[in-house]
Amino acid sequence: MLKHDVVIVGAGLAGLRACIELRKRGVDAVIVSKVYPTRSHSGAAQGGVNAAFDENDSWESHFFDTVKGSDYIGDQDAIEILTSEAPANILELQKMGVVFNRNDDGGIAQRPFGGQSFPRSCYYADAVGHMMLHGLFDNVLKYDTKIIYEYFVTSLVVDNGKISGVAAYDIKEGKFHGIAAKAVLFATGGYGQVYSSNTNALINTGDGMSVAIKAGVPLMDMEFVQFHPTTLKSTGILVTEGARGEGAYLLNSLGVRFMSKYAPKAMELAPRDVVARAEQTEINEGRGVDGAILLDVRHLGKEKIMEKLPQIMQLSIDFEGVNPIYEPIPIRPGAHYSMGGIKTDNNGRTVLEGFYSAGESACVSVHGANRLGGNSLLDTIVFGRRAGIDIADYIKNVDFSKFDESTVKRDEEIFENIKKSAGKERHGLLKTELQEDMRKNVGVFREESLMKKAIEKIEELKERAKNVGVDDKSHLFNTDIIEAFEFKNILLIAEIIAKGAVMRQESRGAHYRNDFPERDDEKWLKHTIAKLNSKGGIDFDFSPVKITKFKPQPRTY
Ligand SMILES: Cc1cc2nc3c(=O)[nH]c(=O)nc-3n(C[C@H](O)[C@H](O)[C@H](O)COP(=O)(O)OP(=O)(O)OC[C@H]3O[C@@H](n4cnc5c(N)ncnc54)[C@H](O)[C@@H]3O)c2cc1C
Repeated sequence: MLKHDVVIVGAGLAGLRACIELRKRGVDAVIVSKVYPTRSHSGAAQGGVNAAFDENDSWESHFFDTVKGSDYIGDQDAIEILTSEAPANILELQKMGVVFNRNDDGGIAQRPFGGQSFPRSCYYADAVGHMMLHGLFDNVLKYDTKIIYEYFVTSLVVDNGKISGVAAYDIKEGKFHGIAAKAVLFATGGYGQVYSSNTNALINTGDGMSVAIKAGVPLMDMEFVQFHPTTLKSTGILVTEGARGEGAYLLNSLGVRFMSKYAPKAMELAPRDVVARAEQTEINEGRGVDGAILLDVRHLGKEKIMEKLPQIMQLSIDFEGVNPIYEPIPIRPGAHYSMGGIKTDNNGRTVLEGFYSAGESACVSVHGANRLGGNSLLDTIVFGRRAGIDIADYIKNVDFSKFDESTVKRDEEIFENIKKSAGKERHGLLKTELQEDMRKNVGVFREESLMKKAIEKIEELKERAKNVGVDDKSHLFNTDIIEAFEFKNILLIAEIIAKGAVMRQESRGAHYRNDFPERDDEKWLKHTIAKLNSKGGIDFDFSPVKITKFKPQPRTY
């Protein structure tokens, strides 16, 4: 068994940022990740990270924009921390070596982003995530940190209401190990793979959320799923909001900039929920182009496209066969981001002592019912940093608790049983059925009858999943079995999303119900809390929203 004071699961931005705080305080913290750190989804972030720097801007304005963007269900104490700490956090990144584009005067350049009343998104062309991830990883290496990669975490090990470590499968060797720890941080990212046509890495299967709820840690606001307005029609690959930040237009089949009808002031730079619904309405009402909308960047000119949006240009050529310098890009809404996650306080603490979460796997909650572009990278660094500092303090006065190997043995048996199974079902096919169903029935526009169909489908898939067998029976690098586990994780997450979405009888942010088209603050200005009951079913409860400064108002753009 391995033993370290702190185990950080996840090597994306949230995990790396927390790790730096721990290592610089001399803490024995290790990183465990199912892929090599720089393959984490954070590296795919394109558009930018928000902070109010400019003398004509203010963090209070960023604070208000974020509260409004969340459709008033984000916790305002947490959003105040996110926005007021943003500038110092970005400057710290800069000191660590993260490069941003510059203005002529040498200051950090900023571009406009959706739902923000000032251009406050710091960027590096259209590859800011790549730059941030590599920058932070360099710093983690500088502190000589032990990185345990290609390890797949399957369970939390808990003793008497306190964390004692994790169970993990070594993908390279095909062996299970216990890793004992005084504190565990889950920075395990999102669950985009619940949906077909998503922008996410294949590894984004909500493992952390699934493992946490199975250990009794509640998940919050899981019905709020962000659909990004501009993903390539054929593949779901993202086209950054930075394109619209640089001035791109959205056109329907009549060549009309239709956003004037839906958000006359903000136009293409309205928040994502508003733009995604506008696009889907145009498509549904017959003004789409082959089931898509056109994103036009041609008027920006070749030079600007090549300087500010080079990745977008190449992705459009490679995956859509369209060169955006000469032709508009066919796009449509795609699943992108999980607003909900493991419920934490403002320092990443969960209800389980010693167990923390930060980044996309966590719900602090700063994004509420709709995240603004550029606020997620900010969330990972602000709350990753805070969790790191809090953990360093926490572990000073605690000892290792008893590590019960039976959890590791149980997971090992589950693996062995899948390997031996003669089951005829295949996880890949079940996953495709689930993803399509979630896109059709729990997507941009929702209604009870459709969502109930999705729940029936999920029940059917749960039964069929018991009969999953794998073709690869070997020990070494058996990704077939890993994917079988990942499928079980997204299936559980899908069930929580669909059931929570049926329950919430209102429209708020990204959760839009045709049968309840209005926001209902009287009944639904509250967080949804999901827990597993002893029979494996899902119980829902609610918790109040923290409102400190801004009373809910109608949300128009
Ligand atoms: C294409 C794309 C573009 C984006 N662009 C922007 C943007 O411009 N601005 C913005 O603010 N946000 C953007 N986002 C959102 C943002 O990038 C993510 O929310 C954020 O990077 C998540 O970081 P993270 O550290 O929480 O998780 P991730 O970077 O997803 O890392 C998760 C880590 O957890 C590990 N892990 C997961 N499960 C297990 C397991 N079972 N065992 C072991 N390890 C595990 C993985 O190996 C990985 O290292 C974008 C997202 C996408 C998909």
